[in-house]
Amino acid sequence: MNTRIGTIGAASPLAAGAHPMIDPFGRAVTYLRVSVTDRCDFRCTYCMAENMTFLPKKDLLTLEELDRLCSAFIAKGVRKIRLTGGEPLVRKNIMYLVRRLGEKIGSGLDELTLTTNGSQLSRHAEELYEFGVRRINVSLDTLDPDKFRKITRWGDFAKVMEGIDAAQKAGIQIKLNAVALKEFNDAEIPDLLRFAHGRGMDLTVIETMPMGEIDEDRTDQYLPLSELRADLEGQFTLTDIDYQTGGPARYVRVTETGGRLGFITPMTHNFCESCNRVRLTCTGTLYMCLGQNDAADLRAALRATEDDALLHTAIDEAITRKPKGHDFIIDRTHNRPAVARHMSVTGG
Ligand code: SAM
Ligand code: SF4
Repeated sequence: MNTRIGTIGAASPLAAGAHPMIDPFGRAVTYLRVSVTDRCDFRCTYCMAENMTFLPKKDLLTLEELDRLCSAFIAKGVRKIRLTGGEPLVRKNIMYLVRRLGEKIGSGLDELTLTTNGSQLSRHAEELYEFGVRRINVSLDTLDPDKFRKITRWGDFAKVMEGIDAAQKAGIQIKLNAVALKEFNDAEIPDLLRFAHGRGMDLTVIETMPMGEIDEDRTDQYLPLSELRADLEGQFTLTDIDYQTGGPARYVRVTETGGRLGFITPMTHNFCESCNRVRLTCTGTLYMCLGQNDAADLRAALRATEDDALLHTAIDEAITRKPKGHDFIIDRTHNRPAVARHMSVTGG
């Protein structure tokens, strides 16, 4: 039996008159990921091409509009919001949105989190904590500064380390995310594991997903996590545990380090049956599934009137279109990714 299907509990503070978001497969939508910008100060090779064309700034929703949209989702049962991107901390005045959303923790919202590359973390860590952020994900694929530069193209390893230090000092719990890349960091995962667990952080490894055109061939980079797990089991004792964070990771306890290791396996294991989330972009487009192209435009409803009723109707209509699952298959005939948009549009 699947125990991870989100349910709206008795205490769920739905706004008066608002309908909860239950999709056609009976899954309650309680988690909203918001990509606040498609821009980034890195160019990770598996995520983006080096020369990216980003959205014109005039197409972006204002932070006030994003706040209003998030509030509508909270009114309809969303309990957890994750800000992502692109790089969320490069959006101008982003702390305004963090503060506004942080004020809703305890009155509808249970948790506000962030996924970041860590480059700007050292200057924002204290404020993030002050505004209610208690847990963040930091993406880190290698501990080798030269390799870090190679994979991120533009990233500075020392800045990210500074960011991790500052966030931990501020009292924010960190989970590290590493994309597992064949012949790039597969041999380094044990070191990443010891580093993360040695500093009290969980580590999650992720399979590369075929999203957006990049400058290289993804099939060269793809590493099934079943292979990685088998390798790790040569060095570590891994025990499956029932730990859940509301995300799709399956966790194990590593006996030798005492820490947790998560596996996110969109390609080898379909995790869709427990999906409780939808994804909003910085232009107000709602994607009901990370791995499908169907989307709903909420910007029109948002801008049509100050009254949220129209927005609620548009959200309800979108939820009726939430698909059963994704279908990440690389189109090998045309060598095209399964999903044309980049991960930076909807966030990870
Ligand atoms: N810039 C932030 C960061 O890197 O954490 C947030 C956005 S980034 C798109 C979110 C996560 O998606 C990162 O952990 C990144 O490694 C991952 N990611 C990006 N492209 C991916 C892909 N094609 N397959 C799997 N994961 C990917
Ligand atoms: Fe930027 Fe994150 Fe994509 Fe890397 S993974 S290019 S940091 S959005």
